[in-house]
Amino acid sequence: MSTMRAVRYLGPKQEFVLRAVAIPEPGPGAVRVKIAACGICHTELHLRDGLLDLGRRDFTVGHEIAGVIDAIGPGVDAARLGQRVIVYYYEGCLDCEYCRQGEEQLCANPAAQPGFSSDGGYADYLVTRARNCVKVPDHVALSDIAPMGCAGTTAVHAGKIAEISPGEWVVVNGIGGVGFALLQFAIAAGARVVAVGLGAARLALATKLGAAAVIDAATTPDTAAAITALTGGGGDVVFELVGTAETMRNATLMLRRRGRLVLIGYTAATYEIHPIELIIREARVLGSVGATLQDLHDVVALVEAGKIIPVIDKTFALENFDEGLAAIENRTLLGRAVLVM
Ligand SMILES: [Zn+2]
Ligand SMILES: [Zn+2]
Repeated sequence: MSTMRAVRYLGPKQEFVLRAVAIPEPGPGAVRVKIAACGICHTELHLRDGLLDLGRRDFTVGHEIAGVIDAIGPGVDAARLGQRVIVYYYEGCLDCEYCRQGEEQLCANPAAQPGFSSDGGYADYLVTRARNCVKVPDHVALSDIAPMGCAGTTAVHAGKIAEISPGEWVVVNGIGGVGFALLQFAIAAGARVVAVGLGAARLALATKLGAAAVIDAATTPDTAAAITALTGGGGDVVFELVGTAETMRNATLMLRRRGRLVLIGYTAATYEIHPIELIIREARVLGSVGATLQDLHDVVALVEAGKIIPVIDKTFALENFDEGLAAIENRTLLGRAVLVM
């Protein structure tokens, strides 16, 4: 039996371990992807720390996967062999009220969720549904696009949920991997974007990518007041990506009348706000989880058109996954970190 390298999740509050496991074979309708790159996501930290636990144990982590199709199962078009692809990481039941509408991220009984509850991308190979593999344009590097499978799709999905109109003020509260993609998505939608974040380098990049204004959260004691002044009333849309009690509260207080707050990032903290803050604004608080397969197709098209430029800070060899995770945890990176196989 031939084996491959895989980084395994064994259970909450346990370190991941690199192991040799069997190379998977694709069944009907499935393909095998020889993984070229896998982005490192906060999700892995949430799994390790026990914040996210879908009940499964002993599987390979990682869901920001790009590679080349190197084997196909029965019923898959042979033309797909050798195709460079990025992977959609939900395998919904395809039969429930959500899946029927293409909203696999809301499926209560998914067949698999690579990297969340079934084998994912910190490995040499992955088997997944052929339909979940989206072709990558020739001129785009697999290591550049891999994180877009999560950071990019999360941004596009949240952007659609916010229903951004041209000319609106959009605040990205927490500029980083998802934030850079959201910033670019909102600009493409015609919004004026304010990026709130930590560190001069990150904020300089936000400006370069088209932010109308940037606010350094480290040196701005009251970001809500700063945004309200800057935008003449607050953000029409605020995307909250950090998820601490303070950032969630500030994100609410920087909403304009009739503003929409979209919660994406989370920590162990609870969202707490007096209802009057929502009532007087007639504000809406929305959650956004993951993305649809269509969102992944849209991200790939946006990257191909140059409207979303993936921001990659560092790459790591698969064996050095723990260094990559530490870099994510310390929040020292400008953009995403990617494992390359
Ligand atoms: Zn379903
Ligand atoms: Zn992710």
